Amino acid sequence: MQGENDRTEEERRPNAGRGWGLLWLVFMIWLVFSMWPRPREAAEVPYSTFLTQVREGNVESVRIAGSEITGTFEQAVTWPQPTPANGEATPPGNAPAPAPAPSPFPGMGAPETPRPYQRFETTFPEVVGDEALLPLLREQDVTVEVAQPASPWLAMLLANALPLLLLVLFFVWMGRNASRAQSGIFDFGRTRARRYDADRPTVTFADVAGVEEAKTELQQVVDFLREPKKYRDLGARIPRGVLLSGPPGTGKTLLARAVAGEAGVPFFSLSGSEFVEMLVGVGASRVRDLFERAKKEAPVIIFIDELDAVGRRRGAGLGTVNDEREQTLNQLLAAMDGFEPHQEVIVLAATNRPDVLDPALLRPGRFDRQVEVGLPDRKGREAILRIHSRKLPIADDVRIEEVANGTTGFSGAQLANLCNEAALVAALRNQRMIAMEDFEEARDKVMMGGKRALVMDKYQRRIVAYHEAGHAVVAWLTPQADPVHKVTVVPRGRALGVTAQLPEEERYNFSREYLLARLSVLIGGRVAEELVCGDITTGAENDLVEATRLTRRMVTRWGMGSLGFVAFETDDEQPFLGYSFAHGKDYADATAARIDQDVQRLLEERHEYVRRLLTDNQDGLERLTEALLEQETVGQEALEEILGPRRQPQEITVVRRAA
Ligand code: ADP
Ligand code: MG
Ligand code: ZN
Repeated sequence: MQGENDRTEEERRPNAGRGWGLLWLVFMIWLVFSMWPRPREAAEVPYSTFLTQVREGNVESVRIAGSEITGTFEQAVTWPQPTPANGEATPPGNAPAPAPAPSPFPGMGAPETPRPYQRFETTFPEVVGDEALLPLLREQDVTVEVAQPASPWLAMLLANALPLLLLVLFFVWMGRNASRAQSGIFDFGRTRARRYDADRPTVTFADVAGVEEAKTELQQVVDFLREPKKYRDLGARIPRGVLLSGPPGTGKTLLARAVAGEAGVPFFSLSGSEFVEMLVGVGASRVRDLFERAKKEAPVIIFIDELDAVGRRRGAGLGTVNDEREQTLNQLLAAMDGFEPHQEVIVLAATNRPDVLDPALLRPGRFDRQVEVGLPDRKGREAILRIHSRKLPIADDVRIEEVANGTTGFSGAQLANLCNEAALVAALRNQRMIAMEDFEEARDKVMMGGKRALVMDKYQRRIVAYHEAGHAVVAWLTPQADPVHKVTVVPRGRALGVTAQLPEEERYNFSREYLLARLSVLIGGRVAEELVCGDITTGAENDLVEATRLTRRMVTRWGMGSLGFVAFETDDEQPFLGYSFAHGKDYADATAARIDQDVQRLLEERHEYVRRLLTDNQDGLERLTEALLEQETVGQEALEEILGPRRQPQEITVVRRAA
């Protein structure tokens, strides 16, 4: 989200400061320049030397201003006079050898090097006076000019006080700057929340699709903020907090922005992680500050994104970071209790881990309303695709419904990405419109990763082809498995080949049969390698990890192993070094051994089953492998040609057993 007045007062200041700084810079440069020592134009001679020069007839003119005498020589005089090298006495009548003239760099000590001067200056001995000067000058025919003495206080001021004044001003300015910077340091406890105003065109509910229940819920919140009286007259209490939860990319943040756009009230937004900093106590004080600010502007909406960053269950994890987080959470809990009934402050929050949130956050009076923002269904996907392709030049052959059909399991963010990728593909192909083909290419890219140019020798390619054909054949022959949509041996993403399965409809609940089918498909790749190549490769690493994880869950969480109807790990996604670290396992070591055995047994069984399946269908495997080596990518229709029509899963038969 962005907006002009997101900028705080402090952020706007530096502009003025920069102007001043520039001025000061110019000033300082001028100052240094004006004080930079320059070679003198006039020799500064003692009065006696001046008299000598007059007597010798070498002075052309003098100018007398007060006690200051300046003038020009007839012939240039070298000054300071070189000291006689052989220690000869100074010529009689001459003034005693003058002390070396003051250096032009006062205090720097370097004696002036002798050079010829046409001009000179000296000081008239005002106190003792010299009656003989004027007659002498007249006698020598020197032009004499007399001027008012320069006003000494002005000169003094200009020469001494001004730089000093500037210096003082400079320090004052520095000091003010520093103090401002310092207040920045102590600003930590202030909230970083950005404030959005309603009168700026932002996201509206029309930009969100496929999450109708969430939209309905939030529309009520908006309605309440617009017309609180209607609700209050009926004695209704609107929820204090609304928690949006759901997988990443389903539009939680987008929904909150839409609420901001529609509600017509101030909207404070910040991310949970912004509460917590290195400094202890900052988070809590930020929460306090945020709610203070919000209360002053009620009715108002506060939006905390990624709530799990602060809202994790207390008592989990180790170290000061957690102490800090707990303090922040406690403050948040207190703040949400601290509203008066008439204060119209609604706290929206979003998380994709509602399971790790502290239960205290979810009790009535706090985030008592939870809105599930799920993955969009077919209709939702279509609507989202329409929103994101609104501004794209779409060719006539593009059927959005079909794209929606083929993107089961995609989140809103992935669909938005798909539209963008399609446009990129079209641009790369120098088309002026985005065609259906581009959407298909884009979908493959989003699903399987981008193509990679990898040089593989024939042997390696063949192994990859067998591996992928193994996955595909097993999936094809197992009715419960998700249908294969495409098999390819073009390296994509991190994989050397991909077998893409696409569920026909959303699944909300997984049956044991389905999970076993999934296991079989995962194992299929490795088994094909074993059967045909007689050797196995590391290419099955991911499959193996995935299969093991799945089996373990079946045994420990879903009671699908032979250990019976029991869940061993109730909380397997606990925070790092969290609960289980502190609490230990919920079962005995002997049970752990039995779990391991059961996982192994299940995997072995599947391995055996797949081995039989592929042995029985080895010619299908060979045909698909050849097709893959030839065409690189084999789609659904081609698969049907190669492997025959796919068997459909049977209807569920109701099994009734006599007791
Ligand atoms: P979340 O916060 O749930 O992780 P976001 O709200 O940040 O996801 O979504 C990221 C982007 O994906 C959005 O900016 C939007 O472009 C797109 N998007 C996600 N869900 C939807 C949806 N339901 N309708 C329209 N666009 C969506
Ligand atoms: Mg988000
Ligand atoms: Zn594989």
